[in-house]
Amino acid sequence: AKVLLTGASGFIALHVLDQLLAAGYEVVGTVRSEEKAEPIKKELAKEHPNGKYQFEVVVDIAAPNAFDAVFQKHTDLKYVLHTASPFSFGLTKSNEENYLIPATHGTKSVLESIQKYGKNVEHVVVTSSFAAIVHRHRSGDPTFINDETTWNPVIWEDAREDAATSYVASKKYAEKLAWDFVKDNNSTFNLTTVNPPYVFGPQKFTFGLARASLNTSADFVNKALKTTPEYEGPFNQPAGVACDVRDVAKLHVLPLGKKEFNGQRLFPVSDTGYGIEEYEKGKFNFEKILRILNEKLPELKGKISPGGIKDNEAELSKLTYYRNKITTDSTKLTFYKLEDTIYDAAKQILDYEASQ
Ligand code: NDP
Repeated sequence: AKVLLTGASGFIALHVLDQLLAAGYEVVGTVRSEEKAEPIKKELAKEHPNGKYQFEVVVDIAAPNAFDAVFQKHTDLKYVLHTASPFSFGLTKSNEENYLIPATHGTKSVLESIQKYGKNVEHVVVTSSFAAIVHRHRSGDPTFINDETTWNPVIWEDAREDAATSYVASKKYAEKLAWDFVKDNNSTFNLTTVNPPYVFGPQKFTFGLARASLNTSADFVNKALKTTPEYEGPFNQPAGVACDVRDVAKLHVLPLGKKEFNGQRLFPVSDTGYGIEEYEKGKFNFEKILRILNEKLPELKGKISPGGIKDNEAELSKLTYYRNKITTDSTKLTFYKLEDTIYDAAKQILDYEASQ
């Protein structure tokens, strides 16, 4: 079956692409330019010599009718995975232009193109975020559990001044738009969203490591590797709930063609899984990353910061409470352990640097 993957050059999308090809799907990936596709094609030729894939250029998902040409050309698309959305900070335009407009217009134009030209589309998966789930003002409140049924109450007017909050709001609005769209248009395709918290783990292809800065969450491990023993903190930031990029990718591929995932929000978290029912271990802060690195990569001892918080469990317990039982029950998956995710990401960076 033929699958459209938007934002195919992204950190998460490259893992999705790899898993789709491994499962035998034919993939049409959208990228912003031909140059973005070149290094991907080189790697795919090695890893998936018999894989069926091609790339289409969609310069800006925020442009009107951005996806029309793609759907007019590929009338046989059966599945659509929409991952493209701006996810970097320090951009130059207004927060509205940097985040809200591309996130919402991008989602809308994919869905509108499907409605117009995608007669054979049966299932759509939209990459949303834990940002759309989490009740920010009740972080650390053990009486409020964030899960697949909760929604971030943030409104744009309160978010627009701050880039990080604007990103969060852009994801909430984009996801809401998708659910409203299928309802308002009585769409015949199924919709599933994937709502990852901070995504960690190795890059699918190491060309990603050559970039000046990695994708925001992937960069936390890199930053920890670059600390010195004299590093003075902060140790409690960045912090949040974590998941592994390979699990996020799996949750994009798993629902395809499976009606039971229609209407579901899938929420992956490190160290959770079917039947495990323990939820505190998926939280991280900078201290936790440093501790994992020191423990799992003894060669780093004395070279990087040993950390600086005595009772880190107490620190971590102050972070957002969550449950992802709906996801683990319906998928029956067991997700990566945070220590393995951090180890794999760090090892890839260290091996790459040693090879340069
Ligand atoms: P990346 O920045 O690596 O991927 C984003 C992708 O979207 C890139 O391919 C990017 O293209 C593309 N893109 C962004 N803006 C536009 C635009 N205006 N027009 C066309 N393409 C665009 O980040 P991730 O892989 O982490 O993110 C993928 C998805 O996952 C996003 O929807 C993000 O919100 C979501 N997510 C990520 C989390 C994380 O911790 N990483 C957590 C929760 C959700 P280019 O590279 O050319 O700019």
